[in-house]
Amino acid sequence: MPRKFFVGGNWKCNGTRESISKIIEEFNKGPSVADADVEVVIGCPFVYADYTREKLRQDWALSVQNCWIGKGGAFTGEISAEMIKDAGIPWVILGHSERRHLPELKESDETVAIKVAYALANGLKVMACIGELLEEREGGQTQAVNERQLKAIAAKLKEEDWKNVVIAYEPVWAIGTGKVATPEQAQEVHEQVRAWVASNVSPSVAAEVRILYGGSVTAKNSAELAGKPDVDGFLVGGASLKPEFLDIVAAYK
Ligand code: PGA
Repeated sequence: MPRKFFVGGNWKCNGTRESISKIIEEFNKGPSVADADVEVVIGCPFVYADYTREKLRQDWALSVQNCWIGKGGAFTGEISAEMIKDAGIPWVILGHSERRHLPELKESDETVAIKVAYALANGLKVMACIGELLEEREGGQTQAVNERQLKAIAAKLKEEDWKNVVIAYEPVWAIGTGKVATPEQAQEVHEQVRAWVASNVSPSVAAEVRILYGGSVTAKNSAELAGKPDVDGFLVGGASLKPEFLDIVAAYK
């Protein structure tokens, strides 16, 4: 079965009711993807989830950008996977590099893995992010870092869990910097990631799991990246707040 192209938008900590309403108005003008070979998911801030769902076209799904590591309770300020599911939101982004590396957050590989496993066990689908820092790439550690992050997640999942996971490879040096990975750099890592999944999870999961590229994806560079055999879509930050996101969605063609 060919892998269905997947385009995720990650609004991060951006937006107001007014700006969300405006960008959705633009998005809703785009062609239907209901019968198309692409799946589109918008990752909005928690407080705007209902508002976004109400306005957003029905052929695009909704995601949030984090969740608590386990069952809810006395965890002030946190949102549990059960709540996200109950609110009718099918997806969650986990392990984003901002959550892994911002000094105020510093989520470890283990924390990310616990969250991924718990979210899946509670019926959510997960965009699981991995990726190396600039100094890790320069130090020849790219493959080792991605495999370490993936290994922590894979250790907590059963084979059937993987049908609800997409992997987002997001080199940290490319996020929000305007410095996109070349299609060759992206393909090289995506191929390594798929090979790792084939050896450490199963060949069938490797054949089916979608591996997204993220980091300064724009309307201009998306078509060439999408042409690479192991690039199955994108996770888009900045450009998902702009009308050009529609052109990135169309890169599957
Ligand atoms: P960017 O962000 O597209 O703004 O580089 C990507 C991401 O952080 O998911």
